Amino acid sequence: MNNTPIANRLHIAIFGRRNAGKSTLINALTGQEIAVVSEVPGTTTDPVYKTMELLSLGPVVIIDTAGIDDGGDLGNLRIEKTYDVLRKTNFAIYVLDAQEGITEFDRKFIEEIKSKEVAIVAVLNKSDRRRIEQHEILEYKKKLGVPICEISAINKSGMEELKQLIAKHAKFDEANLTIVGDLINPGDVVVLVTPIDKAAPKGRLILPQQQTIRDIIDNDAIAVVTKEYELKQTFESLRKKPSLVITDSQAFKKVSADTPEDIRLTSFSILFARYKGELEEMVKGLKKIKKLKAGSRVLIVEGCTHHRQEEDIGKVKIPRWIKEMTDVQIEFEWASGTYFPKDLERFDLIVHCGGCMLNRMEMQYRLNLSRQKEIAITNYGMLIASRHGILKRALQPFPSVYNELN
Ligand code: SF4
Repeated sequence: MNNTPIANRLHIAIFGRRNAGKSTLINALTGQEIAVVSEVPGTTTDPVYKTMELLSLGPVVIIDTAGIDDGGDLGNLRIEKTYDVLRKTNFAIYVLDAQEGITEFDRKFIEEIKSKEVAIVAVLNKSDRRRIEQHEILEYKKKLGVPICEISAINKSGMEELKQLIAKHAKFDEANLTIVGDLINPGDVVVLVTPIDKAAPKGRLILPQQQTIRDIIDNDAIAVVTKEYELKQTFESLRKKPSLVITDSQAFKKVSADTPEDIRLTSFSILFARYKGELEEMVKGLKKIKKLKAGSRVLIVEGCTHHRQEEDIGKVKIPRWIKEMTDVQIEFEWASGTYFPKDLERFDLIVHCGGCMLNRMEMQYRLNLSRQKEIAITNYGMLIASRHGILKRALQPFPSVYNELN
């Protein structure tokens, strides 16, 4: 893993009206021509993502969005995508056009960002076209209630001050979260079981596996990686008893059978349900499976759009397991990548993957929406563990939720 995954970077999004200079700003901030810049309003359609290192903050992803004052059917779709970005934004830069001042659009959108408790700075752009007086900046600051600085994105002036403001006001609590660090001690041996089947990408491990290995090493423990068919042999070859086994959920049954009862066992998917979301909520959601009736609707969600295999977990296995667990005809729908339906009331249950490609804010948004609409949500790993009768064992490393099961 050479680069910090996007989901683990501070998400800095640039918002504003069309033609305020958002694309010019992302180019100026990153020092690269990554966004198409034009005088034609509405040039930016899909959000543009650029990863970079920002001094004192570390790895970030900067996102350029379409104007929030767009119109027409296409414009509304673009605005929807801008809102999709807002829900995963850790830090917002709002671009104001110094030639036009603050409009109602600007004021309302800034209030909306603030209401979501997202840290924000505003920039008064186009100082190359109009001289901006100090008292104006103070007035704007007072009116909007956010830190503000003047810039000329086209001349790249004011970039240092802006970066300092970002560094001063950005908070990134997610960076302190651990996948497995609180479950292990320095020197512990952790065995990771990673099936290498047709679904495994060629020549590499998948992201949850890579990140978990890194987290184990960061916590001064020892990561041993093996396949499910070599697991028994791996135990025999170790002089120290592993403190934890983490498996791909799809191999849960075999791995549980081959792992001695006195070694704790869980899955990558369950670890990520905790890391990105709320384990308790997803355990509660699991209880809904027993209440599904003929014609109930289940939404299966994956946070990425990987190539589907013949025996794909989301498309084939999860529906099959749910049918086996309920013995009734269920209707399934699927969502993947950044798409997450807003009309959740159509469903009786959501089954979500570990969400390793989503940032925590996006996952929290999905959990909040399902909470608001009172739709149960659970997780791939928990459903698979439950199907194989090993849910208690898979949750035993997490005492607070384990106790709820008893
Ligand atoms: S986003 Fe979900 S489906 Fe995609 S790799 Fe991560 S856990 Fe698997």
